Amino acid sequence: MKFFDTHSHYCDDRFDGDRDALLEKLLAESNCGILTCPSNLDDVAFSKELAHKYENVWYAAGIHPHECEKYEISDLDKLFPYLEDEKCVAVGECGLDYYYDFAYRDTQIAFFRAQCDIAKQVKKPIIVHDREAHADTINVLSDLRPEAIIHCYSGSLESAKILVGLGCYISFAGTLTFKNASKLLSVAQWVPEDRILIETDAPYLAPEPMRGRRNDSSLVMHTAQRLADLRGCSLEHIAEVTANNAKKVFGI
Ligand SMILES: [Zn+2]
Repeated sequence: MKFFDTHSHYCDDRFDGDRDALLEKLLAESNCGILTCPSNLDDVAFSKELAHKYENVWYAAGIHPHECEKYEISDLDKLFPYLEDEKCVAVGECGLDYYYDFAYRDTQIAFFRAQCDIAKQVKKPIIVHDREAHADTINVLSDLRPEAIIHCYSGSLESAKILVGLGCYISFAGTLTFKNASKLLSVAQWVPEDRILIETDAPYLAPEPMRGRRNDSSLVMHTAQRLADLRGCSLEHIAEVTANNAKKVFGI
């Protein structure tokens, strides 16, 4: 059985020692597709290289909220050449992080809004990072209405209903397997089948029972298994549905 991991960071230096061997193994054994996400413009170039090396690796192009204080809004123009590349299937990751607040919130919102506009312009989905910024995230998305994937969903059931109403996809990460995931459980049971995605956010957020280790795309099966248990369906069904949703939203 193979899974589509819709969010990972294979540019991360924690993969420097074994990146190629690992990706070859993952794609042969457990993954039918992997989307790798950059955090900044240097990562975008490296993500492109990876995606062109491996048939079933795709990438996104964008600037993460942690990084946006280092750039000017006009730097986002540098994303356009990547977004014309057939292996670049989404804008992101971008969004709002009010937990770390590494950039001023006004700057984060400006970069998020600008990247929503770019996503609409190039007709690609946007990958949204929302950490403790649920209200502002919903405000921006309902104002600008890009096709959006809410990565590592961490909001309430009420917010999920609003987001799905806006046409968003809800992506579950290893956090769904954590013991404190209680408020996510009702979301995982409710999300309509055609709106569910799964991801690792590798190398971060390894699911139980691997929590604390370096994450990689093979571990997305633990999140899929949790979803299958919560929804009362088979692991095969979750693998198939989420892979089909990923291919549909990324246009591949
Ligand atoms: Zn990420």
